[in-house]
Amino acid sequence: MKNEYLLLTPGPLSTSETVREAMLKDWCTWDDEYNKDVVEVIRSKLVKLATQQDGYTSVLMQGSGTASVEATIGSTIDNNGKLLVVDNGAYGARIAQIADYLNIPCHVVSPGETSQPHLNEVETALASDTAITHVAIVHCETTTGMLNPIEAIAALAKQHNKTVILDAMSSFGGIPMDIGELGIDFMISSANKCIQGVPGFGFVIAKQDELEKCKGRARSLSLDLYDQWHCMEANHGKWRFTSPTHTVRAFYQALLELEQEGGIDARHQRYKTNQQTLVEGMRKLGFKPLLSDELHSPIITSFHSPMSDAYEFKRFYAQLKEHGFVIYPGKVSNADCFRIGNIGEVYPEDIQRLIQAVSKSMYWNDNVTAA
Ligand SMILES: *Cc1c(COP(=O)(O)O)cnc(C)c1O
Repeated sequence: MKNEYLLLTPGPLSTSETVREAMLKDWCTWDDEYNKDVVEVIRSKLVKLATQQDGYTSVLMQGSGTASVEATIGSTIDNNGKLLVVDNGAYGARIAQIADYLNIPCHVVSPGETSQPHLNEVETALASDTAITHVAIVHCETTTGMLNPIEAIAALAKQHNKTVILDAMSSFGGIPMDIGELGIDFMISSANKCIQGVPGFGFVIAKQDELEKCKGRARSLSLDLYDQWHCMEANHGKWRFTSPTHTVRAFYQALLELEQEGGIDARHQRYKTNQQTLVEGMRKLGFKPLLSDELHSPIITSFHSPMSDAYEFKRFYAQLKEHGFVIYPGKVSNADCFRIGNIGEVYPEDIQRLIQAVSKSMYWNDNVTAA
């Protein structure tokens, strides 16, 4: 089955036909063919993609990416702990919200949705609030497409001896990084972002000695990160509860395709070309990106909506869909925007076709001419 349109969204995203075909078989969740040959291979491939350093392990968790974030927050911080969260978008805010639901004390640093966190503010908080034990930050804030300065934040957190949690949901697999070098203790991502799998589970790559400290800390049975990991370790890839077998098998195929493409560096290059082609083409048509260029990630780009009164997102969206492209509404609270994703089975030629489709879908300009 072919897709009728390309998803230019930050996940679920357009996947290859071969990834989708990998789902056409059923699997037994206690058989070695699934646990040893699929799940365990995925777990070790993920660790290798995340770091060259020893001492890291991985755990897969059912649910959307947020479930893995919630599992990490709820399983790593003990009852005397406190979390510092950098919130410059919806996903940073969601981490603070998770802490709130779980009654975990939380210090929020919010520089606003279009700025990076001020390092001195983080530094002051870490120095003055000695109750803080953990620091969480989002790598690519998918709300705007902003790339956060994780190197500097992780270094600060390490200077103060804090455990570092990174939400790299929308960047892992699409932007090179070594979490061991960065000093990240827990890194979270999910199946349906830059690895280009389908939705259904998330995963956490963790420093093993830090994860081992989490035994008995979880505030939820289903989202007990330690217990899930322990079960996978003890039983060669066995999930505690029903695992999303088809999704997992598709993810395995997606990992092979990432290797065939040339790994994370090659994929990063493709996404960067997509993003640059997009911004250049959109600028020529009169659109302005929300963020200044140096803050952009290659993952997704927010554009200001056209100023015309005749513009309506829904109509623009529908016209683009007719041309074969699906875009994303804005998520920023104080600016009227729409977003276009660059990740997934999407190539620079697709972006060039998109620019043509956008130029044909600018119906509000016709209205101006007609008036
Ligand atoms: C997609 C995403 C998530 C998780 O979203 P789900 O809808 O739960 O899969 C979390 N953080 C970031 C930065 C994301 O891009």
